[in-house]
Amino acid sequence: MSETVLITGAGRGLGLEFAYQYARDGWKVHACCRDLTHAEDLLALEARFPDQIDLHTLDVNKDGQIKALDRVLGDTTLDLLINNAGYYGPKGVAFGSLERELWRQVLETNTLSPIMLAQALYPRVAASQGKTIAFLSSKVGSITDNSSGGGYYYRSSKTALNQAVKSLSIDLEGAGVKVLALHPGWVQTDMGGPNALITAEESVRGMRTVLENMEPNQSGTFLDYMGNLIEW
Ligand code: NDP
Repeated sequence: MSETVLITGAGRGLGLEFAYQYARDGWKVHACCRDLTHAEDLLALEARFPDQIDLHTLDVNKDGQIKALDRVLGDTTLDLLINNAGYYGPKGVAFGSLERELWRQVLETNTLSPIMLAQALYPRVAASQGKTIAFLSSKVGSITDNSSGGGYYYRSSKTALNQAVKSLSIDLEGAGVKVLALHPGWVQTDMGGPNALITAEESVRGMRTVLENMEPNQSGTFLDYMGNLIEW
């Protein structure tokens, strides 16, 4: 039987590339996107791999949509859950110009929602063969790596995500579920921009290899797309 993956934010960028690579390699892909009416690339991908890709509407910040997704999944088990959806927030906001509501939106998407989704879906992961939950974090969430300051909204959202990922790895150890924070590299997507160092293809290929080779004792770590350990 083929393996099954659920991916959030699959309409573009890394999420779309994950959906493509897993479908191409024969996986069953549950591709989630908050607005399917504007997801031409994902719709085209689904048309190319109709037997392998199921599309779902999911704004990760909406609990009602998380519940609806869980219902629609029926008895589906998930070998791999990829919490990919992310939001940088307004760029270039310096200390002195921070706004509570804007910060809250970034935290909501990058920190609270991936954990809430994992909370809703982890029994499906625990019941699978693969038993893996991945979270797209970022090296800029590493406190050790922060030598340039700024980036309050995004940095803090990924740092807090990392802490929650660590707790989750401990809490799900008994269920045999592996939990990983991944840094995809600096990638040419809408978020990474055109000057980024690597393509989405290279990043996703690397992260898939990391996930494939992951040992149970690597649960609760923070790895980049080449498998290098990143300091918290
Ligand atoms: P993009 O900005 O290119 O794409 C972001 C994706 O997240 C889109 O599919 C977007 O959907 C989705 N999304 C945002 N908010 C929500 C929401 N509330 N509900 C559902 N989906 C949502 O980002 P990337 O593909 O580059 O990034 C993917 C992940 O990798 C993110 O978590 C990001 O933080 C992380 N990352 C990326 C790096 C890079 O260099 N690109 C570097 C380090 C980390 P929509 O189309 O509807 O807006």
